[in-house]
Amino acid sequence: MYAGPVQDLINELGRLPGVGPKSAQRIAFYLLKVPKEDALRLARAVHEVKERVSMCARCFNVSEGPECGICADSQRDTTVLCVVEEPRDIVAVEKTHEFRGRYHVLQGAISPIEGIGPDQLKVRELLARLEPEGITEVILCTNPNIEGEATAMYLARLLHPLGVRVTRIASGLPVGGDLEYADELTLGRALEGRRDVEA
Ligand SMILES: [Zn+2]
Repeated sequence: MYAGPVQDLINELGRLPGVGPKSAQRIAFYLLKVPKEDALRLARAVHEVKERVSMCARCFNVSEGPECGICADSQRDTTVLCVVEEPRDIVAVEKTHEFRGRYHVLQGAISPIEGIGPDQLKVRELLARLEPEGITEVILCTNPNIEGEATAMYLARLLHPLGVRVTRIASGLPVGGDLEYADELTLGRALEGRRDVEA
């Protein structure tokens, strides 16, 4: 539709989550219009994040080194793991100040429609942590929607025979929503009121 570089930009923007063709076009023309310095700041931020930030080798949180700040914190309780879908869910749980253990980021949830099964998630890595880290409780803190519940049920069945306590955050969170949209008080209560999951 447009000359080379402009169309390239529109195509790249259109690949971002939640950005349709119309928005991609609007953002591209916005970037053409703003001062060069402003547009390059965005380019630099993308470049920096890809150069300097990677995944924590232990929990798959975002990290600027081989281990994230939470895993490296000696004050945290290493026997309790909170399993979440995405690194942004860690931020939501941290804001409650109700949890002092460590995390494990699955990097998604089971979703047959999108073709995401346990093999696409960090499930094997979760199981591999249990014994070496002396984990006694796993809190399933996946989102209160269909994919999150299915993932929690799958993990509960997997974890139960391994002799760890398996709990799920209490209901009371808005069903169908994402953890990141729950307010701190509600999520804090859901954590506090977590229940043992039967296999
Ligand atoms: Zn970590």
